[in-house]
Amino acid sequence: MAVLTNAPRGTQDLLPAQSGRWQYVENALLRTAELFGFHEIRTPVFEHTELFQRSVGDTTDVVQKEMYTFEDKGRRSITLRPEGTAGVVRAALQNGLLGGALPLRCCYVIPCFRYEKPQAGRLREFHQFGVEVFGPSSFDADAELISLCYEICGALELKGLKLHLNSIGCKECRQRYYEALRAFLRERESGLCDTCKSRMAKNPMRVLDCKSPECQQAVKGAPVMLDYLCEDCAAHFEGLKRRLSLLHIDYVIDPRIVRGLDYYTRTVFEFVSETIGAQGTVIGGGRYDGLVQELGGAPTPALGFAMGLERLLMQMEASGAEFPEANRCDLYIASTGEAAQQKALELCTALRQEGFIAECDCMGRSVKAQMKYAGKLGARYSAVLGDNELQSGGCTVKNMDDGSEHTLSLDGFTDSIYRLLLEGVYNGIIDAEPAIK
Ligand code: ATP
Ligand code: MG
Repeated sequence: MAVLTNAPRGTQDLLPAQSGRWQYVENALLRTAELFGFHEIRTPVFEHTELFQRSVGDTTDVVQKEMYTFEDKGRRSITLRPEGTAGVVRAALQNGLLGGALPLRCCYVIPCFRYEKPQAGRLREFHQFGVEVFGPSSFDADAELISLCYEICGALELKGLKLHLNSIGCKECRQRYYEALRAFLRERESGLCDTCKSRMAKNPMRVLDCKSPECQQAVKGAPVMLDYLCEDCAAHFEGLKRRLSLLHIDYVIDPRIVRGLDYYTRTVFEFVSETIGAQGTVIGGGRYDGLVQELGGAPTPALGFAMGLERLLMQMEASGAEFPEANRCDLYIASTGEAAQQKALELCTALRQEGFIAECDCMGRSVKAQMKYAGKLGARYSAVLGDNELQSGGCTVKNMDDGSEHTLSLDGFTDSIYRLLLEGVYNGIIDAEPAIK
């Protein structure tokens, strides 16, 4: 039976102590994407089930096994989004965005839902940063997309990811490949899992992506798509490789990458970690030239990628990336007595209006207990207000790091504190940059 205080399996709470890291990462991702011309798009957490069946593909693991699908009270079949692209294409079509200026570039940070076996790096609710580009058919856009991944790694000091690159061709050249692959699989059919047996005819490439050990064994030595590319697809792939060399982006050709979603065409790529274990794919992306049309729009080439934020953070932690320190409380004002408490509240309000983090007591605790709390908070400065201070018109402000004390007049207190705090920040900068004279 579900326990009231246990979150559902495969979900995680993001606690206050960790949220600063996530905010830092999300801001860096959105900012780096902005440098490439991306703007954020927000679409609903749930969509009509059919949208995912049509776009992700009804022979994929995601649709066949992993979707959170339910009937709502209006008897519609609804699905919590397992990925971000389908919703973005739907929104672009519904809002006429593809009739405007192209390329259209959008990005998002979203929770996604997949009913999977939870393990390290594999959750049922996880988060993705994703980008989508609509309009360009040229390999220049593929190179730029990969360049964005590369710049993100730089911005986040993300080390140890390797770019794996492949092409899975277009609808036309894939037919010839499918025949060869089916012939190969037919000989090994008895060794395949039941799902693969049934989807082999319709979509044999899905078998290559199946996670079951027996299928992974059976597909060893299977023919690879790269040997079957048509002239245009081969030229596209060569062009992309040239651009990557120009940008000094290293890659390995990996013919085993087929991607788990049906909508991909031509370029597919992954950024894979060698350090965070079996769930090592941090970024997955590629082209999906047929998807807009599949969903009822005019033919529009498109491409994108998504990165798993939980895996991204795991990789950052594993590779020793630095995270900024959380902002500390600038001043804690302890007080005793009603008049002093009012004063503390007024002073806190004034400081907050200047952009400083200020706290005072709202628990009715003793000064000693308030100071203990200030210590736990890690406040930079503290002050104590009581009747004496109110009468004398001055109070002592203590630097909690080095114990030094300053006596400040309560007249113009906010200004004095303002200077003290800024001086602290200023000193911090001088300390960090001794070269500045
Ligand atoms: P995998 O092969 O690991 O199942 P996938 O091919 O299903 O990944 P995509 O649909 O391409 O994954 O999603 C893009 C990224 O989202 C992945 O590379 C990964 O970082 C992340 N991701 C996918 N599924 C999960 C999950 N269940 N839990 C955590 N992250 C995930
Ligand atoms: Mg998967």
